[in-house]
Amino acid sequence: MRVFVILPAAGLGTRMSPGHAGTAPKQFLEIAGVPILIHTLRAFAAVPEVSSIVIAVRPTERERLLAHVTEHGYADKVRVVVGGDSRQESVYNALRSLDCADDDIVLVHDAVRPLIEPAVIRRTIEAVQKHCAAIVGLPAVDTIKQVERTADGALVTATIPREYIVQAQTPQGFRCGLLRKAFAEAEADGFLGTDEASIVERSGAQVFVVQGSAANIKITQPGDLELAEFFLAQRGH
Ligand code: C5P
Repeated sequence: MRVFVILPAAGLGTRMSPGHAGTAPKQFLEIAGVPILIHTLRAFAAVPEVSSIVIAVRPTERERLLAHVTEHGYADKVRVVVGGDSRQESVYNALRSLDCADDDIVLVHDAVRPLIEPAVIRRTIEAVQKHCAAIVGLPAVDTIKQVERTADGALVTATIPREYIVQAQTPQGFRCGLLRKAFAEAEADGFLGTDEASIVERSGAQVFVVQGSAANIKITQPGDLELAEFFLAQRGH
């Protein structure tokens, strides 16, 4: 059994402030002098079970990415493919490029979650070996409200007991055959999901949840960079 990793990194990062977005897509912004994407790559490269890593980027970022990958010594483990207009398309492009057997494992991880820990990656792999599909999730600590959007805000329509709520993070891991089948069905039905699990769930498979960590943030807004820097400093990077 082999483990393949897909890092979708073809987003534009439009929720970053204009100051940041003007300089580089967020996956190339630096934390402690190292691009976010390289921090992410480092975590996966530290897991011995991982045999190869595919990164999906915009064609215009390909050269920049390859230069970073080579500079940091990951060239022999990494392949680059072109991303698409949606995250799902980017992941599908990468998935199509893999020569994985049905039983092999594919982990998909947001390139912009650089604080993922190798121990959590390994726990995800173990869960996929057992359950065929597993995602990292964080139990909700806030009370969760369902709302209806209104012209001047939102109205609460229900309170959802938080023991039923888990916030989905990544990595999300699957047997390759299962993931391929689910993506093909989603494409045929024109379904666009915000994560891989939603695509696999609709194909009828059960998805197991592995305990995540609050530090595994997705760099989305400018303040997130400072937070990530703080977490990394705590780990001694
Ligand atoms: O936009 P969001 O924060 O949800 O993006 C999650 C991940 O998906 C990021 O790493 C981003 O680069 C990637 N993505 C992609 N292709 C897109 C949109 C997002 O690879 N078209």
